[in-house]
Amino acid sequence: MQGKISRTMLTAGLILWSVVAASGDGAAQVVRAGPPTCKAIALTFDMCPVREGSGYDAPLIAALIEQRIPATFFLSGRWMATHDAEVRALLAVPFFEVGTHGQVHAHLPMLDEAKQRAEISGPVEVLRTRYGYATALFRPPYGEFNDATVDAVRALELRFILWNALSGDPDPRLSTEQMLAHLTSTVRNGSVIVFHANGKGHHTREVVEDLYRELVVKRDLKPVTVTELLDGCEQEPRR
Ligand SMILES: [Zn+2]
Repeated sequence: MQGKISRTMLTAGLILWSVVAASGDGAAQVVRAGPPTCKAIALTFDMCPVREGSGYDAPLIAALIEQRIPATFFLSGRWMATHDAEVRALLAVPFFEVGTHGQVHAHLPMLDEAKQRAEISGPVEVLRTRYGYATALFRPPYGEFNDATVDAVRALELRFILWNALSGDPDPRLSTEQMLAHLTSTVRNGSVIVFHANGKGHHTREVVEDLYRELVVKRDLKPVTVTELLDGCEQEPRR
């Protein structure tokens, strides 16, 4: 019985996901997770602008590289402007993917469509002209958007990436254990998890390392980049 229910739910979820992915209308373009049949997850790290501090969680990035953990970074234009070497360092890692996170980290719904488009395209252009990198991904600051945002992202031929699992790492009151407990109960097949790698995350490295052991070793969920999750994910075999 258990198997029958989960199989039905899985099929329903897959059909729903296909419809959403194939449809061209507004909200349908907003991606919160990969296919539910996907035995993989995407660890994502926002690079929001910072007023003080290094703006770069070097021990976290080093741990990801050392353990060869694929990750996706969403860079804001303002952050890139002061982190040229760090941008190059991220782009140099073959199992990292780089997306964008707006120019100045604005509240997009407060801007008209032309201003939103300029805000979204800023870091896309910088990546293309200064670094020769064609990015395919955009994540709105604060996860805030309206129809104009979706239209602008579509016009720029970017993928609109949100998340379905929050690490909570900007909150200094959360302990590593609390964050881990929340994530292990929310993360499922195809999850996109949001963290910060701009030095403003609390316990981010510890949580990523513990989560890696929990999800990859115990639950066999493979970490992949966002594009791999959406396009090239290894599907769970049909039974
Ligand atoms: Zn941000």
